[in-house]
Amino acid sequence: MAKFQTVNVLGVDFINTTNHDFLTQLKADSQANKNRFVVTANPEIVLAAKQNPQLATAIKSSDYTTADGIGIIKGAKILKTPLPERITGYDTMCALLDWANANQKRVYFLGAKPSVLADLKKKLAQNYPDLVIAGSHDGYFQDEGPIVNDIKQAKPDFVFVALGFPKQELFIANHRQVATAIWMGVGGSFDVLAGHVKRAPAFWVNHHIEWLYRLLKEPSRFVRMLALPKYLLLVYRYALIKK
Ligand code: UDP
Repeated sequence: MAKFQTVNVLGVDFINTTNHDFLTQLKADSQANKNRFVVTANPEIVLAAKQNPQLATAIKSSDYTTADGIGIIKGAKILKTPLPERITGYDTMCALLDWANANQKRVYFLGAKPSVLADLKKKLAQNYPDLVIAGSHDGYFQDEGPIVNDIKQAKPDFVFVALGFPKQELFIANHRQVATAIWMGVGGSFDVLAGHVKRAPAFWVNHHIEWLYRLLKEPSRFVRMLALPKYLLLVYRYALIKK
């Protein structure tokens, strides 16, 4: 079933493809009414999966895991199995929203704070007027049951889940059977699309220092970012063993 070859980086299999080919595949999957689970993984998630067997199982159960983050591209290169480019959750979601808009597809939005979700809906109405918002719920709930039921009733073509990892991956892995849809965990993407958080300007993105921009904006992310050197060290160690 895997349409793409994969590259293994510290136990996670990443699809070896470009944004263009991946989007073509997802659109074809959607037209063919396939149930699909997309994980966009960065070094932090790869490390977390080593500690959290449930998360590792959820990632393994995905149909496509993409390299979200320059650290994964670097890691694959160090391991001498290079990947062509980053495939981020945010860019993939925006491209799918464009396509959903052009094809009047039904989209469910789960996650983020209620105020973010409210602004997100305004932006969607402006920018994607033909897309059908099949349903939505903020990401601060106790009981999953009613939400899962709501997604089922909504019959969405796409379900974007913005609960942060590992919550979003575990949620999708546990509940994806209730709707034949393309399910994808998108982290903080609703905050960006709603205009609550600014994405790094192109300069930072193009120079692969988006992480530095985010760190300067949100110094509290520092501890989380220590994952990157730890991850690179593990990759180098693994590359040595492999030799
Ligand atoms: N979030 C949520 N419910 C929670 C925890 C987080 O809906 O219980 C949302 C949060 O409001 C934000 C997103 O999940 O919109 C996580 O953003 P972050 O940038 O931390 O994503 P990550 O880098 O963890 O993927």
